[in-house]
Amino acid sequence: NEQILLAERPKGMPTKDTFKYEKIEMPTAKEGEVLVQTLYLSVDPYMRGRMNDTKSYVPPFELNAPLAGGIVARVMESKSDRFKEGDIVTGMLPWKRYSAAEAKNLQKVDPELAPITTAIGVLGMPGLTAYFGLLEIGQPKEGETVVVSGAAGAVGSVVGQIAKIKGARVVGIAGSEDKIAYLKDELGFDEVINYKKGNVKEALKEACPNGVDVYFENVGGEISDAVVSLLNKFARIPLCGQISLYNLEKQDVGPRVQTPLLINSALMKGFIVADYADKFPEGIKQLGEWVQQGKIKYSENVVEGFENVPEAFLGLFEGANLGKQLVKVAE
Ligand code: NDP
Repeated sequence: NEQILLAERPKGMPTKDTFKYEKIEMPTAKEGEVLVQTLYLSVDPYMRGRMNDTKSYVPPFELNAPLAGGIVARVMESKSDRFKEGDIVTGMLPWKRYSAAEAKNLQKVDPELAPITTAIGVLGMPGLTAYFGLLEIGQPKEGETVVVSGAAGAVGSVVGQIAKIKGARVVGIAGSEDKIAYLKDELGFDEVINYKKGNVKEALKEACPNGVDVYFENVGGEISDAVVSLLNKFARIPLCGQISLYNLEKQDVGPRVQTPLLINSALMKGFIVADYADKFPEGIKQLGEWVQQGKIKYSENVVEGFENVPEAFLGLFEGANLGKQLVKVAE
């Protein structure tokens, strides 16, 4: 067995030295537990925040202890009546090839309903983040303009498609020509801006002739400043993430958003997907239907091998992924 530890708290961008591999014993399942084999492991931007020793909505990762996150696993041995050998399960698990986990903390995944990877993607945490952030806070109406940053990622790509389902005009912001082509041609976004090329504010102005009614915020920084300068009266901003700020060593200081919010009577609301935990079954059901009807398409970027987990994680900050970034650990 093997695990990945947090070897040091990164300053700025994490590196391969942030992580350490360690050989460990095979665990055994106690009463109420199951022994699971990791099949797919999710790497997520929020994990960067947990590497800092600061107060947040989840406690920091401990130094020299395994990192953890969303995992899809196979039950090898069960000492719980909730699962049997061979079941596919998902939950928050440590970055280990094999773990013993309390059965009550795991959910069953039905491989007949959808590919098992979707449990940590479009039908899991990122999909639900898009669903509740957009519908509960953004509340897009037909004909309104919705802008989403990080548009080609796990959350952003679903946000844009739900906004289209709701009849909005959707403008995405992403970082490569491939991503732009995918969002326009495959997912039906109305306009997509490459923020790495040219002047984002000018491009946005052109793409949003009627201003911005909803801004789904995934990245922060200058992109956010540019969008906020185009807000319409009563605009809504679900504040989901700020990936461009996660690796800064000095706090970012930019144009303040308060004035555009004030003069437009706009709402900006931070949220954590877990705020909507009570409604997850509703969200999964609706997302599942949309996926089945072909109204929501999804893409997964799968890196092979447990030895490549750090690389997959670091890739998130370079935009290496189209859609959900996963690591395939075992067949
Ligand atoms: P993504 O799949 O979107 O992956 C991250 C993407 O961010 C990259 O592919 C890259 O795409 C883009 N990116 C990286 N660095 C920058 C930068 N400096 N400026 C602009 N874009 C950048 O990740 P997720 O969909 O999982 O997460 C998206 C956001 O949502 C994150 O901010 C995350 O923290 C947040 N989040 C919040 C949750 C909540 O409960 N509030 C839950 C889940 C996610 P590109 O090529 O376009 O640059």
